[in-house]
Amino acid sequence: MSVLKVTNLTKNFGGIKAVTDVNLNIEMGEIIGLIGPNGAGKTTLFNLLTGIYVPTSGQIEYNLNTKVKTKDLKPHKMVHYGVSRTFQNIRLFKDMSVLDNVLLGFHSLLFKRSISRKDSFDEAYELLKKFNLLNKKDELAKNLPYGDQRRLEIARALASKPMILLLDEPAAGMNPKETKELKDLIFWIRNEYHLTIILIEHDMSLVMNICERIFVFDYGNLVASGTPKEIQNNKRVITAYLGEE
Ligand code: ATP
Repeated sequence: MSVLKVTNLTKNFGGIKAVTDVNLNIEMGEIIGLIGPNGAGKTTLFNLLTGIYVPTSGQIEYNLNTKVKTKDLKPHKMVHYGVSRTFQNIRLFKDMSVLDNVLLGFHSLLFKRSISRKDSFDEAYELLKKFNLLNKKDELAKNLPYGDQRRLEIARALASKPMILLLDEPAAGMNPKETKELKDLIFWIRNEYHLTIILIEHDMSLVMNICERIFVFDYGNLVASGTPKEIQNNKRVITAYLGEE
């Protein structure tokens, strides 16, 4: 079942063509990788998908609990639709505790009264345990090491029980051990929450290991898509990364 359909999506910033005529169809439960050189338009696509930017042209359609169309996309509404994200530059409430950061992630469910305050505490503790952060629950978010901050941001994003989770460079700044743990965590998230994960990532070994399909961007264009194996052997992709001979 398709959960996200993007049709002829374009975003220009003045003369800069950040995203050009992109078409995507993403199925429920997939782990999707978006890759491409710096400035290829990946984060702009996330910002379009979450209503931060309004498209120059084209459509975005989510098929979640309800159908959500381009005109409905507003950053503050995404979590209510079932779409949650993390950011390239980590956005935590840095002067709040680790536990409070996760608890804030439950606000949409508390607002809808689909979870009680007590259950939100219990679930926050469970999440922190799973994310290896329980022993740091009272520390201020800003005092955590970088890898922990990235994991905390994912834990908070999960608290709202999204159907689609968008991760913008989750492995950035992580050491190899943390990246390996992140890989296991992403598989666990998908299996536990049965959600769709779309991630932007520069760590090719992580992308090739966890993604079922990969979309490759270059100068705003979607230049290739396929399984990790297909992408690794794709001439257009090799050119985008290494340049013409
Ligand atoms: P990276 O891997 O470095 O994060 P990216 O693939 O995410 O790169 P984007 O950040 O989406 O690329 O940028 C695509 C293009 O759009 C770049 O040329 C960038 O400078 C431009 N761009 C992005 N946001 C804006 C904006 N708000 N105003 C003007 N130009 C922008």
